[in-house]
Amino acid sequence: MKVAIPKRYEGTKIDAHAHIGKFGSWAGVESTSDELVEQMRLYNVVKSALFYTDNELVRQAVAKHSKELVGYVWPNPHDGERAFQLVRTALRDWKFKGIKLHPLVHSFLPNDEIVYPIMEEAMKEKVPVAIHSGHPPFSLPWSIGELAENFKDITIVMLHMGHGHGVYIQAAINTARRFDNIYLETSGMPMHSKIKEAMELVGEDRVMYGSDSPFHEPAVEIDRICSAGLKEDQLRKIFYENAHKALGL
Ligand SMILES: [Zn+2]
Repeated sequence: MKVAIPKRYEGTKIDAHAHIGKFGSWAGVESTSDELVEQMRLYNVVKSALFYTDNELVRQAVAKHSKELVGYVWPNPHDGERAFQLVRTALRDWKFKGIKLHPLVHSFLPNDEIVYPIMEEAMKEKVPVAIHSGHPPFSLPWSIGELAENFKDITIVMLHMGHGHGVYIQAAINTARRFDNIYLETSGMPMHSKIKEAMELVGEDRVMYGSDSPFHEPAVEIDRICSAGLKEDQLRKIFYENAHKALGL
């Protein structure tokens, strides 16, 4: 163990995972697009991938803050044709740049056939698919691996890289090692040491910063990465270059 107070990385950042809107029930967090953009400025975040279940709210936010916010469409695959049309409209007409899936919230397995039309649209439009990970039974890393294996040409961002459970964090790293179209996003994952391990084992180009604001405070998410013992050029990759290249942000 290295005994030292980590220095915060002040360089330019891209946030691969941010929200606006109101998350009630157990979560009890909310934010507006103005608040998010103000928060981004405090941490030198120049772009954020933005998603919320109310896609119309995201569309308005992206229209208002087109320099800072990039829309990802968040469908419920159980909606069938309606979900497909939403994805199509968002990618083609609203110029959203990615798709977000939350298998736990919408109760489906990542590799379920209901997801395939959405993945095929992602392939056609050449956009990444960001998927929540870390909660059984629907959003475990192994299941995301099954989807990644079936859609090798699609960039898949495994949000939270396994989240709070050590076994799932390890599975996220192991699964990403098997499928090179999987990228790991760090928000809400508690272990700084696993960020360094992921950089070494998965690859320096396949780990990226996300805040999951307003669920998490960027200061905590940023400082965890800064505590991982990475070199300056590795920090530049994780905070900016990897998302810039892989997600076109
Ligand atoms: Zn989130």
